[in-house]
This record gives sequence, structure tokens and C-alpha cells, in this order.
Amino acid sequence: MTMAELIVLLGPPGAGKGTQAKVLSQTLGLSHISSGDLFRDHLQRKTELGILAQGYMQRGELVPDNVTISMIRERMRDKDCGKGAILDGFPRTVAQAEALDQFLADSKLGTIRKGPYIKVESQVLVDRLGGRWSCRAGGHVYHEKFNPPKVAGKCDVDGTDLYQREDDKAETVKNRIRVYFEQTAPLIEYYRRKGVLAEIDGAKPIEEVTGDLLASVR
Ligand SMILES: [Zn+2]
Repeated sequence: MTMAELIVLLGPPGAGKGTQAKVLSQTLGLSHISSGDLFRDHLQRKTELGILAQGYMQRGELVPDNVTISMIRERMRDKDCGKGAILDGFPRTVAQAEALDQFLADSKLGTIRKGPYIKVESQVLVDRLGGRWSCRAGGHVYHEKFNPPKVAGKCDVDGTDLYQREDDKAETVKNRIRVYFEQTAPLIEYYRRKGVLAEIDGAKPIEEVTGDLLASVR
């Protein structure tokens, strides 16, 4: 059996990781393991791990690493991951990265081929994520800079007032980005030391970022 090759896709919220992971997965024929999707799937199926995770979430606590890691381990044993996979949203911390390495060493399921890091400045992320406005009536979404409504504050489709979801407010977005950089800066160093890090300029247009990502893992 040949060892599967893993691509650990790194980057802050707003860097376009999810979109890029999908394209990479299709182009390279590798599975896409999104930690967000994995969580939702476990919660929906009410698995043992899902119920465990839900308990922490309901108490407003962070889901412990060992729960997340168990989900990833189980997923990586699926047949479709035999050739390799793109990890999106995991690991998030050095502890998780170490647990992943330990699992790969023990299981001999695969090795990490590359850790492309989609690098985007904080202010660009705040602009991208913080300018979103939605309408309650039809869920139509606009962006102050990139896709503004014709009349400020009103939905083009149904004319109702636009509002900003809690998640899209500048303060919330700034906080999310700050937490990400605090947790993740050490992870970037971790993969750099292992010699698998590839820095990708995430300020470029989406298609160019895809091209750079593909070049970095080939
Ligand atoms: Zn609308």
C-alpha cells in the first residue's frame, strides 16, 4: 500500500480556504476534509463524538482537541482518503498538529506533503469579512465594497432594510481574526520547521491563488 499524501491548507478566515480546498481536491483527485463539515456531519448523525462535542458547545466551552482529532482519525480511515486528502480547518493549534503527526506515524496512513499557507493581511480580511449585509426577507447578501446594493441599506430584490449579522460585524470579525493569528502563528512556524510550508500570496485574485497553490504542491 502506498502512503497517502496530505495537504494541510493553512490560512485565516476570509482567505478563501474552503473555496480553494474544493478546487484543489477536484484538480488533484484528493479528498477534501473540512473540519467544519465533519463537525456538522457528526452532530447531524448524532454519533458518540457528535454528542460529546455538542455537550461542550452547549456549555459554551471549546471542544477539546481529542474529540476533534478522533473525528479526523476516523475520517482519514475512509476508503476515499486512500490516495490522499486536503485538510481544511484542521489542525488549528500546535497541539493538534502534533497529534496529527503522532497519528500518521502510528497508523502509517500517510505523510504530510505540503502545508500551503494562504497569507492575507488582517486589514484585508476585516474588509472582506466585515462588510457583509443581509436581508431578512430573502437572505440576500451584499458587501459594502465588493457587491453593494443599488440603494444603500436596501435589498435590490425586495427593497427591505439590510442588517448586519452578529458574525459579520466589524468587532466580531476583528476578534475572530485576532484569535486566529494568536493560535495559528505557532502552527505556521511548526510547518516551516518541518520544511513543508509554502507561503501563498492570498491578496491576488482567486484564480491566481489557485494556480500558485497547485504549483506549490506539485
Ligand atoms: Zn432581499
